[in-house]
Amino acid sequence: MKVALLGTGTMGAGMARSLLRAGIDVTVWNRHSEKAKPLESDGATVAESVSDAVREADVVLTMLFDEAAVTEVAVEFLANMAPDAVWMQCATVGVAGVGRLQARAAEHGVSMVDAPVVGTKKPADEGTLVVLVSGEAASIRSLAPVLDAIGSKTVEVGDAPGSASALKLACNAWVASLTAATAQSVEMCRLLGVDPALFLHAIDGGPSNTPYAQLKGGMMIDDDFTASFAVDGLAKDLGLMLEAVQDARSGSEAPTEMLQALAGLFGRASALGHGSDDIAAVVTAFRP
Ligand code: NAP
Repeated sequence: MKVALLGTGTMGAGMARSLLRAGIDVTVWNRHSEKAKPLESDGATVAESVSDAVREADVVLTMLFDEAAVTEVAVEFLANMAPDAVWMQCATVGVAGVGRLQARAAEHGVSMVDAPVVGTKKPADEGTLVVLVSGEAASIRSLAPVLDAIGSKTVEVGDAPGSASALKLACNAWVASLTAATAQSVEMCRLLGVDPALFLHAIDGGPSNTPYAQLKGGMMIDDDFTASFAVDGLAKDLGLMLEAVQDARSGSEAPTEMLQALAGLFGRASALGHGSDDIAAVVTAFRP
């Protein structure tokens, strides 16, 4: 199997290495080629152009930042994909976004599988992502070697492209809520004169504890914002969640207070200069 992987950022680079470890023939392309070059030593072919990358591929995997980036690159690859090649769209682009990309794919007679992933840099590096998939059953089946290489679990969500992206938004709403809730308690401790490490100690072992709160809480206490999932990425996803919820209510008022609060907090962390930092930096939005 030949895979063309477009977008070797935080997630895409790790996914490319996982594919290579599984013995899959991988060609990578990235807008700024210096981020793709290091993958040569892992066995990848680095393509100079999008069309060169996809021409002989059985699977074209997109792991770009957002719908605008995917659309820009799709203009070039949809016209150059091999007959019967499948487009595996892994970036988080929201429900309406997947619909628009699906329509573009259909214009070119290309089958697109909606395949957003759950998990950050470490699972991408280790090949233990959870891949959510929706689309034509035959196309999903043809992706089996890719799914096995990049993920520890595949969740089949349904036939309609967009349903996997809907589940992805619900998963990221959970991540945003957990991270902001952890930040609130860490910063409340500081404000009230209590060691915030005692908050993590107090919940540890109890039913309200999560490994995620311990991980991100520890980073917040240390002001270690080394990015696994950047603030601007989650801020983008919160916008997609608000759009999806409002679209689904088609005109009637949707209760979005919690999403709006989360969008406000991650937006404030970004405005404070933490857009490229890890989402743990949302703790800065709680500081006076
Ligand atoms: P990232 O490190 O910021 O990488 C973004 C990629 O998109 C880079 O390859 C970048 O190219 C490319 N790009 C951006 N704008 C472009 C444009 N206009 N044209 C061409 N290429 C463009 O992001 P990431 O963390 O890997 O995330 C990628 C996707 O996965 C996003 O949709 C994100 O929401 C989703 N996701 C992320 C995580 C996570 O924990 N990080 C987890 C699950 C899903 P350059 O290098 O040239 O800028």
